[in-house]
Amino acid sequence: MMDTSTELSSTNQNNQGTKKIYGQSQSEISEELEKFHVPRKQNSMRTKQIWNWTYLGGVTEFSEIKNMPKELLNQLSKNYTLARNPIANEQKSNDGTIKWLVDLPSENNSTNNQIETVFIPEENRGTLCISSQIGCTLNCSFCHTGTQKLVRNLTAAEIVSQLLIAKDNLDDWHKNNPNNSRKITNVVMMGMGEPLYNFDAVKKALLIMTDCDGLALSKRRVTLSTSGIVPYIERVGNEIGVSLAVSLHAAKDEIRDILVPINKKYPLKELMKACESYPKIKNSSKITFEYVMLKDINDSLQDAKDLIKILSNIPSKINLIPFNPWPGSNYVCSDMRQIKEFAKVLSDAGFSSPIRRPRGQDILAACGQLKSETIRLRSKK
Ligand code: SAH
Ligand code: SF4
Repeated sequence: MMDTSTELSSTNQNNQGTKKIYGQSQSEISEELEKFHVPRKQNSMRTKQIWNWTYLGGVTEFSEIKNMPKELLNQLSKNYTLARNPIANEQKSNDGTIKWLVDLPSENNSTNNQIETVFIPEENRGTLCISSQIGCTLNCSFCHTGTQKLVRNLTAAEIVSQLLIAKDNLDDWHKNNPNNSRKITNVVMMGMGEPLYNFDAVKKALLIMTDCDGLALSKRRVTLSTSGIVPYIERVGNEIGVSLAVSLHAAKDEIRDILVPINKKYPLKELMKACESYPKIKNSSKITFEYVMLKDINDSLQDAKDLIKILSNIPSKINLIPFNPWPGSNYVCSDMRQIKEFAKVLSDAGFSSPIRRPRGQDILAACGQLKSETIRLRSKK
């Protein structure tokens, strides 16, 4: 539990709280209300009201809350805030994809304290791609984020904040869409960072996003993508219960060791064992395996057959991702003809194997292209 005595004194010069109320669990909010001497009988009602205004109403100031005593709202605003992290830059792709570069408070005066959040509109859904860390400790050789050192883990509030920021900007709050025609229908933890190396904050944030009294995203429509941090996979199923995606990219250790170096610590045999158990915990649904198509590296028809072999016991869908190049990358994307042949081998063996259409490439918002570069973007303005 956090030391609330120091948290409570976190007010700025205007006597306004700086601690985010979003990102707190309902029981943490309720504990705070006890300290504000809210009568015990009213505590759960007041907690629910704060929750509803925050996650259904989309309020950004406590004064917008209508059905709570002024005195309590004053107390809340002295200690807490609903303000979002500021947007440093917004870029719109010609395919409708939007990328927001979000400023976060820096530790140790680091200059690189930004993350990227991407909205991808499609015909029947809208997907928000959320970051879990600034940078990444892993350095998968084909990934742009992997070239950026880990600056720090995000807090639960900073993870939830990305969804709130996107909803603000897309005008996607419940009050504006009473028929529930929401624009953001899906969330994928596929932005910057390895979510399982920030497990506690990611778990807290995803449980808030899927809470049915608030943001109410369906757990089936929330996907956590991991490079394969085996010891946490079971915990994702048991404690969060969202859909799982695994960045596989190779069916043989020799190749995966190079593409996804964490494979040396958690080799394919262990990873596949964890994946085999996941659907049992989760009661049926398929695991998505991501497979980046790299010319002459992992794209032969023999590679496809090896893939079929290791996935034979796992209900799976294989997402084939054409490699998205970035400045300085050493790989080349496989030819589309080869990708299609590769996909056919998989589908002939009964696997669903869609080829992902690259989105937002012109604004470096596609898979693996994310890397906030404060200086580069500032100098472009
Ligand atoms: N760290 C997590 C989630 C973020 S990466 C993970 O690795 O799963 C999201 C997906 O994009 C991963 O499958 C990753 O392997 C893939 N990716 C990374 N760089 C890419 C690139 N340049 N082109 C295509 N896909 C890439
Ligand atoms: Fe990190 Fe995922 Fe990129 Fe690998 S692919 S470096 S785990 S963000």
